Amino acid sequence: MSAPDLLVVRGLVAGYGAAPVLHAIDLAVPAGTIAAVVGANGAGKTTLLRALSGMIRPAGGQILLDGDDLRGTPVEQLVRRGMAHVPEGRGVISELTVDENLRLGGLWRRDRADARRALDEVYELFEPLARRRKHLGHQLSGGERQMLALGRALVGRPRLLLLDEPSLGLAPRVVARTMALLRQLRDRTGLTVLLVEQNVRSALAVADQGVVMSLGRVVIAAPAVKLRDDADLRHAYLGF
Ligand code: ATP
Repeated sequence: MSAPDLLVVRGLVAGYGAAPVLHAIDLAVPAGTIAAVVGANGAGKTTLLRALSGMIRPAGGQILLDGDDLRGTPVEQLVRRGMAHVPEGRGVISELTVDENLRLGGLWRRDRADARRALDEVYELFEPLARRRKHLGHQLSGGERQMLALGRALVGRPRLLLLDEPSLGLAPRVVARTMALLRQLRDRTGLTVLLVEQNVRSALAVADQGVVMSLGRVVIAAPAVKLRDDADLRHAYLGF
């Protein structure tokens, strides 16, 4: 039996002013799976994540998490419901140490003991962060900052991780490691991931589902393996 959908988006319309960027987006992401959202620059991928995480207010449609409509829910409440957004540019605080940045990810949690456990788990997952606990954000490499942003989200034990361009500016080896980690988290903890990526090959290699966007619309959503292996689909929707 396939897993129930954790996230369902229906007819989502959103943008920044009068003219919408997203035009009636439909999407379903089963619990414990990775969906990769790909598409050309300006397709609306980042805007989709912003609308889902409450950073911008949708003009229409529904965002359902476990069947509950989240539209208009304050960001803080979305975080408590299990949504974590790691934006492009990552948002690491340069003046704080690695440890302080990570702790921020769990500050809101009532279960302090589990927040500490989650922090220890992140240090186990990201060994370079454990070695640099006392380093300031601005002393880290690009790859380490990316780990830190992801780690901070994981300290909050999200159920749904919205990840914007985690491979941006990273060496291929670091990209491969990040993708492997997402798989591991999915398999071990049942994490559900919506991954926005320019790096289409890496994204489809790790994802269960591929969602191709163009001009603010989903043009196809299909099993990632199909988008990867079917040359006609690849030519038609991905241009390679
Ligand atoms: P990229 O990979 O370049 O980030 P994307 O698919 O993530 O592309 P978005 O960043 O969502 O695309 O941009 C979609 C459209 O929304 C573009 O036309 C962009 O110019 C517009 N846009 C993005 N951010 C803003 C903003 N803050 N204010 C106004 N328009 C914006």
